Amino acid sequence: MDESRTDGPTSDEPLVCCVCGAVPPAAERGTALLTWSRGIDRGRTTWTCESCSRENVRAIEGKLDPAWW
Ligand SMILES: [Zn+2]
Repeated sequence: MDESRTDGPTSDEPLVCCVCGAVPPAAERGTALLTWSRGIDRGRTTWTCESCSRENVRAIEGKLDPAWW
């Protein structure tokens, strides 16, 4: 029905941040595909928005901190 626009290889995938649930506006979807982090979780594609990716990196670095050992 509404499949006239197929302007990307992943245009059929839902683009939702798996951390905060953010959805990019249609106009920014193409940019989000480039700037968001894409991951695979049990065969499913997951997306992490730009700001959550940044938080993620910080969290991972924080976990590497042995201060609480
Ligand atoms: Zn997010």
